[in-house]
Amino acid sequence: MARALTARNPRTGVHDFSFHALDPPEVAQTAQALRAAQPAWEALGLQGRAEALLGFADALGRLGEPISAALELDTGRRRLARLELEGVRASLGGWAAFAQQQTPPDWVAGRSHAHLRHKPQFRPYTLVGVISPWNFPLTLALIDAVPALLAGAAVLIKPSEVTPRFIAPLQAALDAAGLGALCRLCPGDAITGAAVLETADAVCFTGSLATGRKIAEAAARRLIPAFLELGGKDPLIILASADLDRAVDAALRGATLATGQACQSIERIYVARSVLPPFLERLVERAQGLRLNWPDIAQGEIGPIIFDKQAELLAEHLADAVAKGARVLTGGAIERHGGGCWLRPTVLADVTHEMRVMREETFGPILPVMAFDRVEEAVALANDSPYGLSAAVIAGDVAEAETVALQIDAGAISLNDAALTALFHEAPKHAFKGSGLGGSRMGPQGFERFLRRKAMIANDQAPTPIEAFAEEA
Ligand code: NAD
Repeated sequence: MARALTARNPRTGVHDFSFHALDPPEVAQTAQALRAAQPAWEALGLQGRAEALLGFADALGRLGEPISAALELDTGRRRLARLELEGVRASLGGWAAFAQQQTPPDWVAGRSHAHLRHKPQFRPYTLVGVISPWNFPLTLALIDAVPALLAGAAVLIKPSEVTPRFIAPLQAALDAAGLGALCRLCPGDAITGAAVLETADAVCFTGSLATGRKIAEAAARRLIPAFLELGGKDPLIILASADLDRAVDAALRGATLATGQACQSIERIYVARSVLPPFLERLVERAQGLRLNWPDIAQGEIGPIIFDKQAELLAEHLADAVAKGARVLTGGAIERHGGGCWLRPTVLADVTHEMRVMREETFGPILPVMAFDRVEEAVALANDSPYGLSAAVIAGDVAEAETVALQIDAGAISLNDAALTALFHEAPKHAFKGSGLGGSRMGPQGFERFLRRKAMIANDQAPTPIEAFAEEA
């Protein structure tokens, strides 16, 4: 039975968009059609598929305007909506160039048995399911889908029900590029997502730790691989040798880009006690210079909180921190304008690891700052987290930052900057601890994980007779 859902506009608070959520039988039907189309797509070969992806990049160029307009309504931000579209087009070009560098597999001589040789064959999963969140709706719907398509899989994408407006124009661009039979977007909620899991041969999930556990359990029951990219609580360590202006810039961008609604946001800042006062002073001054993009969406750096439940969580984290002794140096209260929820960059001092704001993912523009006396203490605090997505270290030079970075239990560390994984997707990385599971999404592995390796093993001599294995008398 069709289910009608509505989506809230983050700038007005009005549920002004309704859509039809796909139910399990509809998802199964879509999956069946994708499976039927996949063999021809695989047979096209890597270069043919790369060309088709370049055709999709062209289609996004021609048909991008309605996509970024829809993303703007979904997220309440204009510049990032356009940057998402540009980023996806650039990634299509990047994956096509990657494909051109690949050479067909060749025979490899055996080492343990000289008369045997082997050659790999790569077979994609037939149908890859993608389940994505609301914070970067376009980027995260496609970040795994594009390399999966390049690998030869068909792809079923279930974007977040919080930000569904971009789905129809994106599907139109896929259709225009001739990819509509290979890649379908399924509007819907958790029920739709669960149905995708029941039909895919591999699943890529980006979202919260709590949902990620459910996805992993469901995938385990079906014995399909689950690539999970979950939450984070990224620490930033600022050593005494750091250039403080650099540290302030990195901290502020790392914590407030996309209003902190990014998995790799800086959510904890540890500063050498000797430089704490000037750091806080400059951080507060710079934070106070940032503006809301309200009432004019074309002005300002801080957008609305996209998901209203997230605003409640931010308020809870702030209240908990203040009740336990944190001082609010700037920001600190959810503001309501025109029906939307905003939070100005909020700097907290005197925080401890007893506070939720230092332990749980906040997903907002909050910068809790804590002093440390010894570097070992800073490393222990940074590692005192259920998450291990990424981290950052700022020191006088990269070499000094690296010595500290090596001790941090996280999958990617920005040196002398912060949150660089948002910009740079070439470096393979794993999500450590509760931040994820499965092969690297970044680098060549982001493509290879959609391929199953098949080994061709040839014998150039006479086969070994069974008698060679007779029991010794
Ligand atoms: P969420 O876990 O609530 O939802 C993510 C997606 O899962 C949505 O499409 C939702 O409909 C679907 N879903 C929910 N329950 C499901 C179920 N039982 N079965 C199948 N699908 C289900 O996450 P969110 O609130 O949309 O996104 C925010 C989270 O995403 C944050 O924790 C953030 O850190 C994380 N995130 C991680 C990365 C990364 O790369 N590691 C990137 C961006 C966001």
